[in-house]
Amino acid sequence: MIKPICRMGNPVLRSAMKTLERDEMMTDGFSQILTDLKDSMKHYGGIGIAAPQIGVALKVAIIDLPEENRYGQKVNLPLTVFINPIITYLTDEKQGFWEGCLSLPGLRGYVERPSKVQVNYLDEKGNQKEILADGFLATVLQHELDHLEGVLYIDRITDRKLISYQEEYNEFIISKNLAE
Ligand code: ZN
Repeated sequence: MIKPICRMGNPVLRSAMKTLERDEMMTDGFSQILTDLKDSMKHYGGIGIAAPQIGVALKVAIIDLPEENRYGQKVNLPLTVFINPIITYLTDEKQGFWEGCLSLPGLRGYVERPSKVQVNYLDEKGNQKEILADGFLATVLQHELDHLEGVLYIDRITDRKLISYQEEYNEFIISKNLAE
């Protein structure tokens, strides 16, 4: 079911997300949450969504990053469910991207994050998984998993001049950004 998106200011985005127990993962209620996340992400056109964004304070996020994405990035991650993820930063080297978020509609911000990460997580069947990522996917993973710590991308912006409305981003920034 498509759920309304919780926007910045809604305390659920800043709350402590609960770690899932294995028996909780096997319930109908939990599979409904996964369906709601997938339906909502698809409906609102996100490449990722975290449970608190639909008002559920659990450590669950999903990412679906097709090769053809609106960020113009050549990355392909088929729809993946991340349960109880643990992120490890593999480098101090930073990379920057203009990020957006369904919970901050109409805004863009330039965020620098470590360029290489490892994520250990459970998939929806409860299997232990590991993913290594660099480039844009590393940023997408950090953005989504930050939601599970109550962190929004806007918290990570170091130069507040690099916050823009989407229309102004399209008009003044995107051409410069793509030229980099
Ligand atoms: Zn977000």
